[in-house]
Amino acid sequence: MRVCIFGTGYVGLVTGTCLADVGHDVVCVDIDAGKVERLNAGVIPIFEPGLTPMVQANHAAGRLRFTTDAAQGIAHGDVVFIAVGTPSDEDGSADLSYVLAVARSIGQSMQAPLVVVNKSTVPVGTADKVRAAISDVLAQRGIDIAFDVVSNPEFLKEGAAVEDCMRPDRIVIGANNPTAIEMLKRLYAPFNRNHDRIVSMDVRSAELTKYAANAMLATKISFMNEIANIAEQVGADVEMVRKGIGSDPRIGWHFIYPGAGYGGSCFPKDVQALAKTAQQFGVRPRLLDAVEAVNAAQKEHLFELMVRHYGSVEALHGKTVALWGLAFKPNTDDMREASSRRLLQRLWDAGATVRAYDPEAMPETRRIYGERVDLVLCDFAEAALHGADALVVITEWKQFRSPDFAKLATRLADAVVFDGRNLYAPDEVETAGLAYYGIGRGRSL
Ligand code: NAD
Repeated sequence: MRVCIFGTGYVGLVTGTCLADVGHDVVCVDIDAGKVERLNAGVIPIFEPGLTPMVQANHAAGRLRFTTDAAQGIAHGDVVFIAVGTPSDEDGSADLSYVLAVARSIGQSMQAPLVVVNKSTVPVGTADKVRAAISDVLAQRGIDIAFDVVSNPEFLKEGAAVEDCMRPDRIVIGANNPTAIEMLKRLYAPFNRNHDRIVSMDVRSAELTKYAANAMLATKISFMNEIANIAEQVGADVEMVRKGIGSDPRIGWHFIYPGAGYGGSCFPKDVQALAKTAQQFGVRPRLLDAVEAVNAAQKEHLFELMVRHYGSVEALHGKTVALWGLAFKPNTDDMREASSRRLLQRLWDAGATVRAYDPEAMPETRRIYGERVDLVLCDFAEAALHGADALVVITEWKQFRSPDFAKLATRLADAVVFDGRNLYAPDEVETAGLAYYGIGRGRSL
């Protein structure tokens, strides 16, 4: 099938590439001319395991093309995807300006009937707004062309996006027209061979499904962080509690890790946007507000542990802190809303210097912060320890899991480790002569 995708970010680029990989003919449109130029030259702007060779192979085969020319993309596609960003507006609601800009350019350029598929995460009712925006422009052009607007939210995880796209848990299709659903079923058939993964429903339910999924996951994280904070005060170890509850199949093992708070481009903005939608429809989102508030506090927690250890904020002045991890989670270079950013700011405000290392997010860190005297970006994890007083681990990359603690004890002038992801066994760290702080790791009173 002939497909056009607006947006070549994590979602648009991965979706376009996977669709091309199963044989569809894909044109990706982006307004970022630099990005399009790099993609056409085989340079992939994001880190996503497995993505680069797939883009290059499908581009070389002529099934995957990149352009800034919206009209060209629209003329190409029988199906046109919207996969542009929906960042938080100032009041927490989703900013639909990018989505509606695409809708207007579809209205301006479409010459024949097509199916418009919204893959961006958007509030309930957005499909109606997209339909209205396209219809308005068609009316201005004085023509009437049939089109459908379908909601097809994306559930891929950064760091495993290609795998998720090739083998999705489910493919949610929200449409009011059965013909549009059939068209998407044909498009996704290559991903749906093993068993039927397609869940078709009305448009509004599909739009809400995406927010419900992310809000549920964020809730699990904030719930565990709250339990961790209780554990810390009552002298219990949340890691024991986690094992104790995860073994109950009704609870399960996934997503019950306490830590330094959730970040990324989705959970923070989606929880806020869903709360905003609830308010707009007269529902008070008590739980969502709490999930958000717990997370905001949790992002401060590592710094609070440091202040507890050193006795005051002032005592951090002049300290050098080794920081392992910058990305909001492992296997990505994405630093949007990353917990590391809050911690960096707190440490800089306190007058500390940070020596940081992340396997993938160093270029992004450089792009965000530029040159600073209080930020030294190191080429490998060990190098971050040179001249450091303390170590903070904030992203659970595999390579940080088993350091040589005896060596750490000799490297860190203040011999202290702050483990923001509970990677280490406190006893093992302490036996090596280091002080240990984790999340929710109270000791028996
Ligand atoms: P992103 O910021 O990485 O990429 C968005 C891209 O859209 C950018 O390259 C931008 O230049 C381009 N763009 C903006 N306006 C455009 C226009 N008018 N025409 C063409 N291109 C345009 O965003 P993302 O992370 O891929 O997310 C896209 C959507 O998918 C968001 O709604 C997000 O919530 C949702 N989503 C993201 C993820 C994720 O893990 N990143 C997962 C599921 C859903």
